[in-house]
Amino acid sequence: MKVVRFNGFHVGVTDGRKVVDASELCGAGEGDWPPVAMNRLIRDFDQLRPRLAALLASEPGVALDSVHLETPVPWPNKLIAYPVNYHDHAKEMASRGLANVQGYFLKSSSSLSGASDAIELPNLPGREIHHECEIALVIGKQCRDIPAERAMEHVFGFACLLDMTVRGKEERVFRKSYDTFTPVGPWIVTADEVPDFANIDMKLWVNDELRQQANTRDLIVDMPSMVAIASSASTLYPGDLIATGTPAGVGRVVDGDVVTIEVANVGRMSVRVVQGARGANVVFEKPYEFVRAH
Ligand code: MN
Repeated sequence: MKVVRFNGFHVGVTDGRKVVDASELCGAGEGDWPPVAMNRLIRDFDQLRPRLAALLASEPGVALDSVHLETPVPWPNKLIAYPVNYHDHAKEMASRGLANVQGYFLKSSSSLSGASDAIELPNLPGREIHHECEIALVIGKQCRDIPAERAMEHVFGFACLLDMTVRGKEERVFRKSYDTFTPVGPWIVTADEVPDFANIDMKLWVNDELRQQANTRDLIVDMPSMVAIASSASTLYPGDLIATGTPAGVGRVVDGDVVTIEVANVGRMSVRVVQGARGANVVFEKPYEFVRAH
């Protein structure tokens, strides 16, 4: 099943062509703050699933391409991300800070945006802003200290995720936390629709140019271990997001680009890039030249 947020506060279910509004069923209302209807939907999914399926089967809904797709979980308790998690990306960055020796870092939850939202580049002359092609794991059940063998029982589903990054040497969290630096979408697909989480192909294009291509079999820390490592330290909650890390091929985006990400059995989304006027600060005043190591 695919669940979405759209047109502001609405929560819905989609077959990829139409979207049926389930806001009433899921208690999503206009002006809700904080906006946690999707967190509750995820927590209560076992009970809600038959009713969501019935809505999708019986209601005409509206065309998916006629709605504004919002980020699926705008208010996770945590937006977790793993650093260098593919050997080919470690090589291009000349990095020894692999995910299995670094553990996780956090991005600001306010960096989340949706499939219909543009990426707004901050006004940072002298800096490159890069795309990173990743998958989001969406936590389904509250858990702590989960062994890898039982980790995937606690995963609700998957989504496409872009981890946008200002290149430089400054605090990683800060470089990755600008508003719109974590597009997620176009929906969350439940884990049962992905036949093998250890064999997921993903691709990323900027305009028509294929920039990144990888498979989850090449992850350094695999998905179950990501949950195990994170939950060894932190209680995970329904709606928490884990970004899996990027393969090689990261690169610059500029005003007018369209970034397309496709994750097999999960989804595909194309996100516009626009140059914004805001975002400058003393930290990023010094130029930084990104040099690919191979
Ligand atoms: Mn990343």
